[in-house]
Amino acid sequence: MSERYTRSQELFAAAQQVIPGGVNSPVRAFRGVGGTPIFFASGSGPWLTDVDGNRYLDYVLSWGPLLLGHAHPVVVKAIAMQAAHGTSFGAPTKQETELAEEVIKLMPGIEQIRFVNSGTEATMSALRLARAYTGREKILKFTGCYHGHADMLLVQAGSGVVTLGLPDSPGVTAGAAANTLTAEYNDLEAATAIFREQGNEIAAIIVEPIAANMGFVLPEPGYLEGLIELAHSYGALLILDEVMTGFRVAPGGAQGLWGLKPDLTCLGKVIGGGLPVGAYAGRREIMQHVAPAGPMYQAGTLSGNPLAMAAGLATLQTAFGTHGDAQASPFAQAEARARALAEGMRKIGEELDVPLQVGQVGTMFGFYFLKESGLHVRSYAEAKQMVDPSRYASFFWAMCERGVYLAPSQFEAGFISAAHTDKDVARTLDAAREVLKG
Ligand SMILES: *Cc1c(COP(=O)(O)O)cnc(C)c1O
Repeated sequence: MSERYTRSQELFAAAQQVIPGGVNSPVRAFRGVGGTPIFFASGSGPWLTDVDGNRYLDYVLSWGPLLLGHAHPVVVKAIAMQAAHGTSFGAPTKQETELAEEVIKLMPGIEQIRFVNSGTEATMSALRLARAYTGREKILKFTGCYHGHADMLLVQAGSGVVTLGLPDSPGVTAGAAANTLTAEYNDLEAATAIFREQGNEIAAIIVEPIAANMGFVLPEPGYLEGLIELAHSYGALLILDEVMTGFRVAPGGAQGLWGLKPDLTCLGKVIGGGLPVGAYAGRREIMQHVAPAGPMYQAGTLSGNPLAMAAGLATLQTAFGTHGDAQASPFAQAEARARALAEGMRKIGEELDVPLQVGQVGTMFGFYFLKESGLHVRSYAEAKQMVDPSRYASFFWAMCERGVYLAPSQFEAGFISAAHTDKDVARTLDAAREVLKG
């Protein structure tokens, strides 16, 4: 196995000398699957090529942003054209308004939007806004949900914090964490009990509409609606963190798909088409509290920079086909292939008697290897109890050998792009069957 990754290993050794852990984001270090990370040299459509020349069908897609696949010609051209005219002005451009209008067209619940540079900035700013708007300090989040790495959100968090099995991070002050209340995902009663005691001090509930940073956990019917009602009955806001689900589960995100009406929405990932962008958005009346329209301060040297706006706009316009036929849009095709992949995995699990929990919505999917069949994960507590921790690592590496790159952790979602073909999906399922047969 190691010969296959010689160059990656050399590069990782060099990286570790100058970058902590050799990576700029923890999950990339492959602690969730063992071994050393694969270094990539290039991507094209659904394919990744690593520095040793191995090719992979990519189901990570930069953790979601690449809805059109790697180096889509329309996106590359938009970036190149903008780059030739200058990469940043630190002043307003028409591209910001164009992307804002495009997002509002896709997500009709949003009236105004502020662009930032990452999902972390989006959630951090949305919480500041909720606190400014309500004059309250506490927030409620859910165990295993990840909302970026701002201090007050690194409490019972998902993503790399789950993968590495870390407790709440050192460096987060007791003060920052003290105002963060937590409950289990999918437990409306637990959230209600917290509100009964402290509801009048809570500024906002922040929640992932699909808990996709602890694997892939769907909300129970009525759960998200219940949270919105709960927040409103105490004068708190509901912040829907659609950094991952936005433009991934449906053109209008989870709120469009399920008819949810959050007060604020956080966006990221797809909205930048592979460049660093995040955004927070919501009703005009709330957004008007953001400076300079209102008193809540939030700023950014590179915020809304034209290169990132161009990539985001090209991605959204291409994916959702401003040209009529929604059924034939690249998004719809990607969704159909995600469904085929999920159904195929479910069948393979049944055929080979491997207890799998497979989930899929839109162009996102995920699967857990369960300890036994009949189990169903609905929360982080259940994920810890029910998921077989031993099986994923060997599955991941065997899939890599067969040219399929999945998330290097069982506690992350998978993504498909509009560039993946039926043949790519069939090839992926063949590889999975072969590996699981053992
Ligand atoms: C990825 C993610 C974030 C953080 O976004 P970054 O761009 O990595 O800072 C926040 N919330 C959710 C739901 C995410 O999936």
